[in-house]
Amino acid sequence: MEKEKGIVVPGDFLGTSEEFTPGKGVYDENGNICSLLTGVVSISDKRVIEVQSKVETPPVLKEGDVVIGKIEDIKDTVAIVSIACLKGKEDREIATARQAVIHISNVKSGYVNELKNELCHFDVVKAKVIDAKNLRLSTEEKSLGVIKAICKRCKGGLKWKGNGNVLECGLCQQREVRKLSEDYGKGIV
Ligand SMILES: [Zn+2]
Repeated sequence: MEKEKGIVVPGDFLGTSEEFTPGKGVYDENGNICSLLTGVVSISDKRVIEVQSKVETPPVLKEGDVVIGKIEDIKDTVAIVSIACLKGKEDREIATARQAVIHISNVKSGYVNELKNELCHFDVVKAKVIDAKNLRLSTEEKSLGVIKAICKRCKGGLKWKGNGNVLECGLCQQREVRKLSEDYGKGIV
């Protein structure tokens, strides 16, 4: 896999534990090695795979910034997001590990009945900072929302086939819905 030079985001599949030994900045989930960070992949001679964040001056978040993050938890009315990076500065980690929230009223325009029908644990989202002090995010705009998701049943990658807000698992064909970004599945934004 020619991923050595690319920037990866949290949750990106890097390879299997048969191919690589997990090093820093990655996690092993049922034999699939994925990135914990936004950063650069390196593979040693002994096939140890690592992701290193490229920390320069840590960006400070402000209102209107667009960030990439991963859903860590879903409560009744809020989704907890760990912010991975600031758009336009994908190769830099945010100053500290920052947790933000998306309130159910800021997920999309219109009424949301159940937050878990819009966002799910492990989803990677693109969201806008609407309150920098309390780190509140919004995914209302068309370009915002889920950009990457995995199947709840088998953890396979969900693919968008242009069918509304419906995603389909590439492995088990399970269908799931999300508040999708129009950039879903396009990779780095
Ligand atoms: Zn599946």
